[in-house]
Amino acid sequence: MASKPTVHALRRFVEQLVESERTRQGIGGWWKKPLLATGVVDDRFEALPRIAFREHLLPQDLLATARSVVVFFIPFQKELIKENKKGERPCRSWGVAYVQTNELIGKVSDALGDLLAQHGYKSGLTPATHNFDEIQLMARWSHKHLGHMVGLGRFGVHRMLITPMGCAGRLGSLVTEADLGDHPLIETPEACLLKAGRECGKCIEACPVHAIKENDFARRGCWDRLKENRSTLDYFADLPESTHVCGKCAALMPCSFKNPVKEL
Ligand code: SF4
Ligand code: SF4
Repeated sequence: MASKPTVHALRRFVEQLVESERTRQGIGGWWKKPLLATGVVDDRFEALPRIAFREHLLPQDLLATARSVVVFFIPFQKELIKENKKGERPCRSWGVAYVQTNELIGKVSDALGDLLAQHGYKSGLTPATHNFDEIQLMARWSHKHLGHMVGLGRFGVHRMLITPMGCAGRLGSLVTEADLGDHPLIETPEACLLKAGRECGKCIEACPVHAIKENDFARRGCWDRLKENRSTLDYFADLPESTHVCGKCAALMPCSFKNPVKEL
């Protein structure tokens, strides 16, 4: 078996891949420098069926020999978020960025899997999205919950993961039999101002269908809005049916681009 890659090497690898894709697509770039955190497969993940979804998979379900969970976050550029802030509907760029970012997440996951395979370690991968129960609207493999568990970020009241680079971006994850160790990135027990006992609630005000409450989330109301956006916006007509987007609760919030609790 070849040498084990370091987490630093994995981070550099993903940064270079995202940078090369940004350049190759020639679209001015949707993405900023990505983040990557890892966690040892241990007892913590056994809580997933309880705290995420009763049918949530365990790392060993993806790969029986899994020893580490790897979660990465690809943040969006501020210009894209600013564009999506306007009005009550998502802009065309937001939909295109969603589609292209899902493709990128697939590429990053595959490339990480290939890199680990070159070192002699198998990986288990999942799709970036739509691996969920369509009745319960819960993911069987939640990148967000995994990101929370490996310390990539903390949940906000908008139910998104707030990382050191904020919440405006997308997540991917995989498991591997390489023992990469624990390499968290988030510095504070909470990263949401409201959850940390400070004033905020800006995401609650921003939601056009009032899906977000401080201690509750109307999952169905949010999902219906995402589907409605796809089916009614003419400028989404050429995008895949699965382009379910909104993003108003992540648009120019205190937690969009950073962990605001760190600055308190
Ligand atoms: S906008 Fe404010 S209340 Fe909402 S998740 Fe971000 S920090 Fe928390
Ligand atoms: S994505 Fe849109 S509909 Fe869903 S909670 Fe956020 S603002 Fe509300």
